[in-house]
Amino acid sequence: MAGVDQGNFAMSNSSKKSGIVYLVGAGPGNPGLITRTGYELLRHCDAVAYDALIPLELVASLPERVERHYVGRRAGRHSMPQTEKNRLLVSLAQRGLNVVRLKGGDTSFFGGSAEEAECLAAAGIPVVVVPGVTAASAVAASSGLPLTGRRDASWVFFATGHGSAADAIPVPWGKIAALGGGTVVVYMGLANLEKIVNHFLAAGHSMETPCMVVQGATTGLQRILESKLGDIVADCRKHQLRPPALAVIGQVVQHRTPPSSPSLPLSGKRVLATCCARETEQVCAALRRYGAEPLPYPAYILEEVDDAQGWSRFSQIAVSGGWCLFTGGLEVRGFMDSLLRNGHDLRLLGRFKIAACGPAEGELLQRSIRPDIILPHRRKKLSRKDLGTSGAGETLVVFSREVVMDAAEWAEVLRLELFRTKPISWEPHWIQEIRDNPPDYILFRNPAEVAGFINVLGLNEAQDLARKCRIIPLDEMVKAAASCYGLQFNAEEGSAFNKIIESAGHL
Ligand code: SAH
Repeated sequence: MAGVDQGNFAMSNSSKKSGIVYLVGAGPGNPGLITRTGYELLRHCDAVAYDALIPLELVASLPERVERHYVGRRAGRHSMPQTEKNRLLVSLAQRGLNVVRLKGGDTSFFGGSAEEAECLAAAGIPVVVVPGVTAASAVAASSGLPLTGRRDASWVFFATGHGSAADAIPVPWGKIAALGGGTVVVYMGLANLEKIVNHFLAAGHSMETPCMVVQGATTGLQRILESKLGDIVADCRKHQLRPPALAVIGQVVQHRTPPSSPSLPLSGKRVLATCCARETEQVCAALRRYGAEPLPYPAYILEEVDDAQGWSRFSQIAVSGGWCLFTGGLEVRGFMDSLLRNGHDLRLLGRFKIAACGPAEGELLQRSIRPDIILPHRRKKLSRKDLGTSGAGETLVVFSREVVMDAAEWAEVLRLELFRTKPISWEPHWIQEIRDNPPDYILFRNPAEVAGFINVLGLNEAQDLARKCRIIPLDEMVKAAASCYGLQFNAEEGSAFNKIIESAGHL
């Protein structure tokens, strides 16, 4: 794992043949809550085996070379049996791969880490554990709840409410309920909440005892329900709280300081974002800033290409100059690397005027080159008037992925490819997830995303899914692509997303 400062987590790998397995806590669901060490290990690993409750953008943003293995619960079904997970980790490490085993929250809480570590150790494979933010800490922070306090709690009890495994030691609820002066935190707390509450009532706690349930703490689906022991079960049903949720019982609940964060326009909304891996983190971050829970489902793989012929033609025409047009943020970002890789530098642009096809691209471009013109919106056909040029026979160099700018009537167009798109396939459980639980919105930022989405799902399923969600196309060009595949959208609705799309559109 070159370039990773593992600090205390470093481990010299004595066995040359096998890789190292890092058991990494991903935190409670918000990608900002993984540790720096965990994040760096992830970015540099060879393979990742991940659970259901991790923020998917951490995995979706990884480069294509990283092997991905989903081992979590499949929608409506059980997760992979523990023995199979153990076997998978051993076999990946025995192939010499450095593996991140990514788990929700902290690896040491209710996640089967012990079995995995034991099994790896028995096979002589080095294991390193990287802690994470456990759900209880996340719930405490995001609901303004102190888990302890001098006035009402000198201890905290973390228990599982699930207790379904036949061989698991049962939680002594009667005894816990009989203790006073502490806080009880119940992981997997929804299914058996009624039974647990009854233990507390039977032990003499009043119906008025403060308690709460928090769903999806730190994510776009976060919901906080404060209640009383006598009402909590009915309240959870009434407000339809869903896993992952944590229950907290104890006097501390009455001393919480509810967060004063503003309500965000996309709170509670799941937004499927079809951006490619290298854009995922930024697009998801933009959506999260507006409160949404992103589903990063990349619609294609993006590959860098070296268009040697194009660059050589460019250098031939550089003496007479013309116009250079940047059609997307990726092109702006990738331009400099490609320029240098192909043996040139910025002097090649000396005689060219520079145009950005939209405000977002213009802003990005301005970080290194001052554009002569920033077009108000992207377009397929470019007229002489758009660029304010009068001369015929101009040369126009277009940096573009899929959009061939039509300016043939008045210019000699040279299209220079910096990236090419490749088809992608989605993990079966990703598809199952959106079949069972369609997102609220599907965001398309360029025509390639629409085409890729149709390609992954097939036209019928894509149209079917689109009918159950709201389609948000970035601009007129994307609208045209969506219409062309028969995807319905409400032109008005898109405007509510403008700001978000703009801040994500810089890519
Ligand atoms: N290792 C994890 C816990 C795994 S058990 C950790 O340290 O947090 C899974 C349970 O954790 C869920 O059923 C739920 O009770 C709780 N949980 C996980 N993420 C949560 C979140 N964001 N908000 C509330 N509870 C969460």
